[in-house]
Order: sequence, then C-alpha cells, then structure tokens
Amino acid sequence: MGCRQMNELALLYEQAKKAGLNTRLIMEQGLDTNEIKNIIKLHEELNNIFEQEEHLLDLYNENQSEEIKKQLKELSEEVKQIEFKLQKNWHFEQDEKYHTYWYQQPACSCPKLDNMDRFGFEYKVYSRDCILHGKE
Ligand SMILES: [Zn+2]
Repeated sequence: MGCRQMNELALLYEQAKKAGLNTRLIMEQGLDTNEIKNIIKLHEELNNIFEQEEHLLDLYNENQSEEIKKQLKELSEEVKQIEFKLQKNWHFEQDEKYHTYWYQQPACSCPKLDNMDRFGFEYKVYSRDCILHGKE
C-alpha cells in the first residue's frame, strides 16, 4: 500500500469514528474503502430521515393528518431498506431479525428495551398506538 493510500485510509477511519462507527469491527470484517464510505453515507441518510421524521411528527401531533402518517410510514420503509444496505456493506447477513434502527426512529413508540432484548429473534414487540407499527 502506498503512502497516499495509507493517508486516505487513515482519513476514512477518522470519518468513520466521527460517524460513530466501530472501527475495530471495520477491521475485523475486512471492509474495503468503498464499503466504509457507503456505511458513512448510509448513516448520514439515516440522520436525515430521523430529522425529517421529527419535523413530520410535530405536524402530525398538531393535526393527525393521514397524509403525514403516510409520509412517516414511507420514511420508515426507507429506514428498513437502509438497514438492509448497512448489513450488506458490513458483510452481515441481510436479515430483518437483526435490524435495530426501526425502533429508534423518532416516530416509533414501540418499546425499545424489549426490542433490544429480542435482537436476533423473529418476534418483535409493537406498541398498538405506534404511528409506524401500530394496528391502525
Ligand atoms: Zn413502532
């Protein structure tokens, strides 16, 4: 590996750390630079979606609009797709059982600890009145 590539990689690891990624796991998984860049970008997308959701959630709390609810559910679907892409780039199996961002979404009111406990299990715990995952 040349000196320039080493510098690029060091810079990328710095970015990854700032994005809150586990750099040790990056090494253990043997991720290449493209995969690391993808993961950083996917985390930015997640942050953007979460911000949009917060905004929409405020609006929804004001007027319970079905249209806003629909938009929130669409964002939730995007979160799911991002989770699959993250798994792919991390060299993990693309499996919904191991998704953890869906219940961290601002618009989700499902129980977080219960779902953390069910990491890797088929059955999740949904809150009946969750805008995204509830019955209505
Ligand atoms: Zn929920």
